[in-house]
Amino acid sequence: MKHFFKLLLLLSSSLFAIENHPYIDGVAVIDVGVFKEKPKIFYKAKEAKVILKKNHYFAIIGIGLNEKAGKKHIVAVSKNKKKDFYFQVKSKSYKKEYIKLKTNKRVTLSKVDLERFHKEKAKAKKVLGSFNKTLSTDLDFKVPVSGRTSSPFGKRRYFNNKPKAPHSGIDIAAKRGTPIVAAQSGYVMIREEFFFNGNTIYLDHGEGIITLYCHMSDFAVNKGDFINKGDVIGYIGTTGRSTGPHLHFGVVLNANAVDPKIFIKDFL
Ligand SMILES: [Zn+2]
Repeated sequence: MKHFFKLLLLLSSSLFAIENHPYIDGVAVIDVGVFKEKPKIFYKAKEAKVILKKNHYFAIIGIGLNEKAGKKHIVAVSKNKKKDFYFQVKSKSYKKEYIKLKTNKRVTLSKVDLERFHKEKAKAKKVLGSFNKTLSTDLDFKVPVSGRTSSPFGKRRYFNNKPKAPHSGIDIAAKRGTPIVAAQSGYVMIREEFFFNGNTIYLDHGEGIITLYCHMSDFAVNKGDFINKGDVIGYIGTTGRSTGPHLHFGVVLNANAVDPKIFIKDFL
């Protein structure tokens, strides 16, 4: 009997595939039909990730946080211009957090820090927009560290009623030094200390999917390494702008930050 359940578990995990979540900051999964070989699919003139499931190909599109609900988007099949597909962005309500500050004075960065921050921002933008065709992984990710979700994805933050950037990942609180594992197999494309994000690793999983791990105390891998899903890449810390030991875990799909929970079916 035990074996039967084990088999069921194995079957369900191998059949796992992400569902269509076409809301703002979500992922649209579009059935583009049957092709002899993997088709090239384009979204906003950029190539998109495509997966095969039961003879059908599916385009996997990350939706940006600045998109408007109700807007129709085109997913284009390059070989046959007449065979375009559409999806409509759905609205979703996110948790809001209003933070009152005594003054409107911001944290002022020194000229050197500001220059550093702008350089890092430009570097991150360039890397996150890349599309590595040499690697293709499935979308069944592993929890990088177990712990309490201290801040959910997409939380809209307001300082003195002024909207700030929404939370682009998920925060998982854990003890300092707890190992952090790779959510999926991939290459270490960034391994460095950033001004706000502290010790940071970007893993490239190919076809525009990148995972981010921030505020680590230390690294366990080097830039360029190929990491298998579940391997230790670093340790929980509180480097950068952080108020306590936690992991900021992010998933980027076609340059848009999307909800990591979509990729992890057993998220705690
Ligand atoms: Zn965070």
